[in-house]
Amino acid sequence: MCNLNYRDLGVSPIINAFGTVTILGGSLMSQEVLDAMADAARSFVDMHELLLKAGEKLAQMTRNEAAYITSGAASGLMLAAAVCITGNNPDKIARLPDTTGMPNEIIIQKCQRMSWDRFLSQAGARLVEVGQQDKTSVEDLESAINENTVAIMYYSGSWYERNALPLGSVLSIGKCRGIPVIVDAAANLPPVDNLWRFTGEGADLVIFSGGKGLRGPQNTGLILGKKHLIEACRLNGSPNNAIGRVCKVGKEEIMGLLTAVQQYVSLDHEKIKEEQEQCIAYLMSELTGPEGVEVTRVYPGRHGQPCPRLRITFPDKEQRDRVVKILKEGTPKIYVAVFSEDERCFSIDPGTLHWDEVRIIADRLKAIFAEENVRNN
Ligand SMILES: *Cc1c(COP(=O)(O)O)cnc(C)c1O
Repeated sequence: MCNLNYRDLGVSPIINAFGTVTILGGSLMSQEVLDAMADAARSFVDMHELLLKAGEKLAQMTRNEAAYITSGAASGLMLAAAVCITGNNPDKIARLPDTTGMPNEIIIQKCQRMSWDRFLSQAGARLVEVGQQDKTSVEDLESAINENTVAIMYYSGSWYERNALPLGSVLSIGKCRGIPVIVDAAANLPPVDNLWRFTGEGADLVIFSGGKGLRGPQNTGLILGKKHLIEACRLNGSPNNAIGRVCKVGKEEIMGLLTAVQQYVSLDHEKIKEEQEQCIAYLMSELTGPEGVEVTRVYPGRHGQPCPRLRITFPDKEQRDRVVKILKEGTPKIYVAVFSEDERCFSIDPGTLHWDEVRIIADRLKAIFAEENVRNN
């Protein structure tokens, strides 16, 4: 009578200096979240009732009109697309993903095309691309709206928005033409007020990941927004045998997520940022790279979040790749963040690290840098 753990499978836990990314397991849940899940696992409940009540609680905690819990932000995108197509029309709900003869167009800016878009198509939406890679104009967006348009898609976060029409303009066009705007803000936390800011500014549906910054169960996501659309999420979602049945969340995840959100909205985010700054300062003081290696603090986060990171820049991509590989293959394995736009850099996100891990990273990098110094000479 004992539980299995990662090592029983020969899978070794890693030090995650990358951040809250799904490929490394997202985030770690607090003891309170784990307790809520264990409690929830001990009784049966009527899932329709639980989803309704949990949605009301979530809406209240996030200062929104209504809320729905789904199995991740990716499934949130599919459900959001579904509800913009079907509303609460039972015939349409029964037919998805076949949208023959129904308005099904979702407008998206060319500069915001993402691999996530396919989850909109999964509901049967047809994506209509507007604007150019480096720019979208108000006219581009307005002229694409027609009687088949059901929604406008928007990815929130400074990296996604760098060439895009600003959210404010998109929201005012949507409002003026009566087209709902879906905002994907999956990883755009903190600041905590993003949970109510976008809906407050008029977004109809806003999607967050439950398993990233919120530190809820990995397979949860939040859809926040207008009451009639959230009602349609429920109709399209599990436990109904509609398109969202594949986005099932268990009673345990629902209670875990509510607990995580309750904790998140009452966290001292200033204090957390201060601790992250201390971590960056420590790493900077410890690490003097070999000739040509630069160690810098980067702020804000990639989505514009108030979170510092450490960036290490190498003379060339080969050396960067070599160090990333050594870190990954060591004991314990250390995974750092590598982004396609920064060929010669990797970054360290203090948000997913404990202090003992930060020290291990500093020691390992010092040893690698010493080795690299020898090589360079
Ligand atoms: C992470 C992410 C998602 C997917 O979130 P999951 O909760 O893992 O499904 C969707 N969109 C964006 C912009 C993301 O960063």
